[in-house]
This record gives sequence, structure tokens and C-alpha cells, in this order.
Amino acid sequence: MASLADLPIRDNLKGLSPYGAPQKEVRYALNVNENTHPIPEPVAHDIVEALASALLTINRYPDREFTTLRERLAAYVGHDLTADNMWAANGSNEILQQILQAFGGPGRSVLGFPPTYSMHSIIAAGTDTEWVAGERAAGYELTPELVTEWIEKTNPDVVFLCAPNNPTGTPVSLETIAAAYDATDGIVVVDEAYAEFAPEGQLSALSLLDGRERLIVSRTMSKAFAFAGARVGYLAADPAVTDALRLVRLPYHLSALTQAAAIAALDHTAEMLAMVDDIRRQRDRLLEELPQLGFTVWPSSANFVLFGGVHQPHALFEALLERDILIRDLGIPHHMRVTAGTEAETTAFLAALEQLGGASF
Ligand code: PMP
Repeated sequence: MASLADLPIRDNLKGLSPYGAPQKEVRYALNVNENTHPIPEPVAHDIVEALASALLTINRYPDREFTTLRERLAAYVGHDLTADNMWAANGSNEILQQILQAFGGPGRSVLGFPPTYSMHSIIAAGTDTEWVAGERAAGYELTPELVTEWIEKTNPDVVFLCAPNNPTGTPVSLETIAAAYDATDGIVVVDEAYAEFAPEGQLSALSLLDGRERLIVSRTMSKAFAFAGARVGYLAADPAVTDALRLVRLPYHLSALTQAAAIAALDHTAEMLAMVDDIRRQRDRLLEELPQLGFTVWPSSANFVLFGGVHQPHALFEALLERDILIRDLGIPHHMRVTAGTEAETTAFLAALEQLGGASF
């Protein structure tokens, strides 16, 4: 049997590992920051109707410009944006990939700030874009001075700012984003996959788009919208950016079924987002109750919490798995990440930790 090493694979892919968050059948899957609430059944029925109708013309290629979907996304994000500012793809992973296909690539670099979303460096490798790892300040913070210093030092073509950051939950201030923009002639991408979970009053980078044609705000329907399985990510940017992406996207990349499902879901925005407040409450509960069990927590604006004080993350991972609970070991020493689930799931997780002896486990 041949192995990868026997193939004439590109040099920069040699020795790399693929994205590999475990996918296991468990009762409490709290490891990939999904919205664990199923979508309301009446909404599901409307989506099925939209899919049935799309199927009647499935012999034809879909709208390559997904115009209706872009209109709906513009209406959803507000900020006076129009369909011309919007773009969508199969998950925000594909959005980020298209951005690097257009603005990164061989001989170019992307600056990110680990620990951050693992796909950022994997997509860099896949597009043969050099990954430059900046460093964060204490508490995983990014300050205007720090991002400016890293941009001046490394002169990247693209900057990735994850706001709030996965896996730490750390928000990124608008001052930091604006400073990054001013410090570079390149593209600044703000990955706002978890934007809807931000506390009241925390502003989105969407409010910075006007007059900044190199700024891109990436979003997804996978998290707050509870639509991870449908694979719909999108971005907001200057229309010139979407023109650049038209050069690299595959024609008809968003299937007619994906477009129909996403439009139908956006028709029910209020119901789809109804769980967000509850998820925020469960996140705040984790932030409050994990310290009572002896763990440390990092402030989070997302639907997950990074907690420290774990003696042996691998042992805790296994002990929780035995109790049918899956959380994430990201290789950060003495830390683990847990998704804020439903109230019952959060209770089950906290009860299991308590049973195991909390931080003394
Ligand atoms: N960005 C961040 C920060 C994420 O955490 C994730 C999912 N874990 C994504 C993007 C990708 O999500 P999707 O492709 O489902 O939109």
C-alpha cells in the first residue's frame, strides 16, 4: 500500500496533518462550537418546501451569482450594505480559502495570531500562502500597538484577525482592527464566525467597512444560525473584493439546494436566532461556575469557553468521554475548550466535572 510520502505532493504540504476534530457519536457533543439547539420544526418544514421547489429545476445550473441570497444576507447584516457588498460560499472556511486564493498564494504571506482557529494556517498551507505566526499580549489580547508592530515587522499580504478569537473567546476592539488596516497595504480579514454571541454593545467590524476597501468581514450561518450542516458562510466587503473572488471561485459553487435552504432560513431569522440568548446565558454560567470547581476561565464573547487549571487535558478528555461528553483538547497546556450547549447539556458537563473532583482531577 502506498502512503502519502510516496506521492509527488507539493513540498509545503509534506508532513502536515489535516483538520481533525474528533467526530464521535456521543450524547453531549460540546467540541466544535456548534449551536446544539436543533432548528425549530416549523422552520425545517419551510426549508423542505423551498428545497422541494428548487429540486424541480435541479437539471439546470444554479444562479452563479446567488443574487437573492446576497440580498437576504445584506438585509440581515444591515449597516447599509447591499447585495453588491456580499459574497457567500460553502461555509466560511471556503470564504477564507477564496480570499487566500485571490490575495495570498505562492510568494505571499498571511499573518495570524495563535492560538487561533486552526483552519487559518491549514487554509494558508492549502493555498501555498506562507503562514506568519504573530504573538498575543497577556490574556490573549490584541492591542493596536501589538498588531501594528507585527504588521510592520513581517509585512504580510493578508492579516487574519479572529474576533472573537477561537479558541480563547477574546474579543478584538475596533481600534485594533482599524490600526491593523492603517498599518498595511494588504487585505485585513476579520473572522466574525461568532459575532452574534457578543455581549450587548460590542460592535462588529461591519461598522468599519465604509471607506475601507481592503477590509473583509467573514461570517457564517454555522454557529448562531444553527446551520452548520448546510455549509453557508459569507462575507461583507467592498464590491471590488467580490470581483476579485469571482476570479477564483468555481462556477456554480453554491448549489441550488444550498441557496434555497439558506434563503428559507433567512426568512425565519428571528426563530433561527431565538436560541442565541440562551446560549449566551449558558456561556456566562460556564464562566461563573467553572471557577467554583477550581478552574480558571478566559473572558469569552463567543459560544464557548477556554478554561485552564486542567492537570492532564488528555485524561480529562477521556474521563468525560466515558460519561458521553465530548469537549476539545487543543494542545494548549493545562487548558481545554467547551461549547456552551443547551441548559441541560451545560448542567451535564458541569455535573460530570464536579463528580470527577473539579480541578483536582
Ligand atoms: N471561523 C472560525 C473562527 C471558526 O471557529 C469556524 C468553525 N469552527 C469557522 C470559521 C468555519 O466555520 P464554517 O466553515 O462552518 O462557516
